[in-house]
Amino acid sequence: MKARQTREVRIGNVTIGANYPIAVQSMTATKTQDIAATIRQVELLEAAGADVIRIAIDTPKDVTALAEVRAARPNANLVIDLQENYRLAERVAPFVQKLRYNPGHLYHIERDKPVSEKVAYLVDVARAHGCAIRIGVNAGSVDPEKLDKYPKHDSISPMLDSALEHCLMLDDLGFNQYVVSLKDSDPNKVIDANIRFAEARPDVPLHLGVTEAGMPPDGIIKTRVAFEQLITRGIGDTLRVSLTLPFENKGDEITVGRQILKDIASGRFRSVARFEQKGMNIISCPSCSRVENEAFIDLAQNVREMTTYAKEHDITIAVMGCRVNGPGETDDADLGMWCAPTYVNLKRGPESLGHYTYDEILGRLRVELDKLIDEKRGVLV
Ligand code: SF4
Repeated sequence: MKARQTREVRIGNVTIGANYPIAVQSMTATKTQDIAATIRQVELLEAAGADVIRIAIDTPKDVTALAEVRAARPNANLVIDLQENYRLAERVAPFVQKLRYNPGHLYHIERDKPVSEKVAYLVDVARAHGCAIRIGVNAGSVDPEKLDKYPKHDSISPMLDSALEHCLMLDDLGFNQYVVSLKDSDPNKVIDANIRFAEARPDVPLHLGVTEAGMPPDGIIKTRVAFEQLITRGIGDTLRVSLTLPFENKGDEITVGRQILKDIASGRFRSVARFEQKGMNIISCPSCSRVENEAFIDLAQNVREMTTYAKEHDITIAVMGCRVNGPGETDDADLGMWCAPTYVNLKRGPESLGHYTYDEILGRLRVELDKLIDEKRGVLV
């Protein structure tokens, strides 16, 4: 196992980087404004041994809820996930130890203001409240300017470019208490992106994760493969296992993360150099405060059951919980669904196939899946 060369970053009473143990974290999958549910998930994650717990914030009402969650769970190391509304940072920072922003989301409001000014504001807020920052780059929501710079088939370079650019912005502001994440639902891309980033910036701690890994056991396998490849190379200072789980099982993300770390430390690996996806690949998001209908979790499970008849076919189906990230993050799947409050949108690659009620969607998916299988057979004949 290669030694890490990253610098130390403090997140409340946890320090990551350098030779500190790899911290295991997770995120609440509740509507943040549902205070009782959010507190319950923080409790579940704390009970499972989470080092850090993330909560999504997008509205002033979320901020009010966060204050109550903080009061109820005073010892948790909390991170807020700033979604489009980056200006909420100053209101949430007093309650948390870390701010996560997505460079690809800084464009949504105040479009005429330079991104560097927005980043300077976030750094000022973090500094004033002793918070760390995560530059969280996600394959499904990369800065559009970066996407335009590279060929369509290269999804890693725009992510890297964006992450490195934001590192320089923070460096120029004299702020070094930051970490970076580069997430994708494909474990091989997570491996490649993080290796390339670590080569360019060996000093910057990395938060590892395979996003929308899906349900256990497949989601665990994908995540494990990526973590084994990276951690044995000395890459990774904190991690999150993103699984689609029933509410009360959310702590499993922590248990699984710790088990993977334990297995790596004792030399127990899956004997694969790369993750070779064979057969049906269901990717689904871990859900968060943006989930539009709680039926999402059941839908993800029903999709897996319904598609077992096609498990030999090399087809990717994505199931996402909301309209914000769902549309972008389903583009690469053969068939994709993203959930709205009363209906589910169905896509084939980037093309929309319309929307269907929660009762209709499985039947409609089956029709499209059969069509796809027939077409693939036709190509092979
Ligand atoms: S797709 Fe939407 S609901 Fe699912 S984790 Fe991402 S933001 Fe949350």
